[in-house]
Amino acid sequence: MDTRRILLVEDEAQTRSVVEAYLERDGYWVTAVGDGARALEAFGQHKYDAVVLDLNLPNVSGEEVCRRIRDASDVPIIMLTAKGAEEERIAGLDLGADDYLVKPFSPRELVARVRALLRRARTETEPQRSRVEYGPLEIDLAGHRVYVDGGEVELTASEYKLLTTLSRYPGRVYSRMELVEKVLGYDFEGYERAVDSHVKNLRAKLGDDPKEPRFIHTVFGVGYRFESPQESS
Ligand code: CA
Repeated sequence: MDTRRILLVEDEAQTRSVVEAYLERDGYWVTAVGDGARALEAFGQHKYDAVVLDLNLPNVSGEEVCRRIRDASDVPIIMLTAKGAEEERIAGLDLGADDYLVKPFSPRELVARVRALLRRARTETEPQRSRVEYGPLEIDLAGHRVYVDGGEVELTASEYKLLTTLSRYPGRVYSRMELVEKVLGYDFEGYERAVDSHVKNLRAKLGDDPKEPRFIHTVFGVGYRFESPQESS
């Protein structure tokens, strides 16, 4: 397989060189830059397989970099955000970032996330499957039917959409706002809590305990993420 290119955007020199070293050790070809303007310049010059983007940057902000990259490409983007900066995180996900890590993070965790994003980006281009299995959960996409431990589960249209949206990319974090748009088709904030109700009902039907979920995990302060029990074990 050819070498994968990663664009790393981080203004703190120490963090930048540590992350760069970890990514290179994992076999990636890394372009590391320290500000938003250089990030956009680099992005215009090469094709990258993934972008690791610090949100808090000098000159052009991380949000702006994220927006411009997303306008031009579907490249996976993983954001690095400050501790406690929930709004920043949500804004980033709404701008089309695929995942985020809160500082201080373990470089090993970052490498694992990058690897997962690249794996996911590959499966996105595969032909649509009609039936998918996640451990005990089975979704018949052609027949719109859902089974848990072999038994059929009756879902409402919104619950079905929510489940297929979340499970399509296991591990990807979805903000409530994003789920409102994708699942309910509304586009204003008052409906974000409606997502929580649908998740609650969906979990009950799937037999998923919110305290120890098998499938649908809460991402505190942000939204939800689907995990396949096969992969997380
Ligand atoms: Ca920074």
